[in-house]
Amino acid sequence: MSGMLSTEDIDRIAEEAIDSETPGALAASLIDAVEQGRVADLGYALTVAAEITCDAGDAETSITLAERAIEFYERSEGTFVCHPAAIRADALFQAGRDEDAMTQLSALRARLIEDPDAPMLVGDVLVANGLAEIAEEWLTEALDEVLRRQDELESSPSDPNYDDVAMLAFELLQARHDVRHELGLPHDDHDELADELLENLEESLEDESLLMFLPQREYEEALRRWPEPVVDHGATWDEHRAATEQELRLRAEHGALRLAVVPGSAAGLAQFATVDGTEQLDSDAVQAYSDSLAESDLTEISWPPGRNDPCWCGSTSKYKKCCLPREH
Ligand SMILES: [Zn+2]
Ligand SMILES: [Zn+2]
Repeated sequence: MSGMLSTEDIDRIAEEAIDSETPGALAASLIDAVEQGRVADLGYALTVAAEITCDAGDAETSITLAERAIEFYERSEGTFVCHPAAIRADALFQAGRDEDAMTQLSALRARLIEDPDAPMLVGDVLVANGLAEIAEEWLTEALDEVLRRQDELESSPSDPNYDDVAMLAFELLQARHDVRHELGLPHDDHDELADELLENLEESLEDESLLMFLPQREYEEALRRWPEPVVDHGATWDEHRAATEQELRLRAEHGALRLAVVPGSAAGLAQFATVDGTEQLDSDAVQAYSDSLAESDLTEISWPPGRNDPCWCGSTSKYKKCCLPREH
């Protein structure tokens, strides 16, 4: 490797390292890139290298890298970033320096009521090192404080801090729930709330991940009934599927998870058309139909298919020869 490493490249290295039998080699190539100034985001590269070496059991190297990352962020941004600090604490435990690890964790503990990244990181490090009870205590204390703050803001929902506090409460609830689960503790009210909020979040992500799609026969039937293009883009079925592929790709790039298409039908659309002398199909009607499909139990076709699998559009061609090359 000799080129510049983007953040995406570093993400890929981090992912590869998880299943790799030689994570040390991946870390070494990342460290090379750091030393040669070939990384776009130095703090992040150091953090990932610290994480890989820690997981690979090379605690001393990990501590050094994590310290460089912490120092880099302090110098360049004047901020304390939780991620490298958590890795440093983990590596210190690994190196048998428990007292230093706890000192580092105390600094992170103060961030529990400030930084939404902190709860999960602190919980994970403590649990991984046999200190789940301490994690439960810290997270409960921080949660009480943040919920109190949220209560105060309840009367002024337009307060600019409202969303930040809600996000912190969410992260604390989840981290605490996981730690308590680890300890085998029964659900309390906060755990119920944690599950409920997580479920809501998953549902809202699901809405983003389902896209209505009309198979060829249905699209052509729809065009006979409503001569105007049925969906925003696509005067023909071919344009419709190319636009669908492009939209899915866009959503994937914005982080949508578990993307899928749900096949719709002309008859289904007709149920949402307004009848005003003649049958009209406007974009609100298409949207309403699409929403109803997302809530139904109809078969979803997950996206993307494998390159050599049949295309999602129903053409019977392989994905790599059908819609994959056609997004533009
Ligand atoms: Zn639960
Ligand atoms: Zn296709």
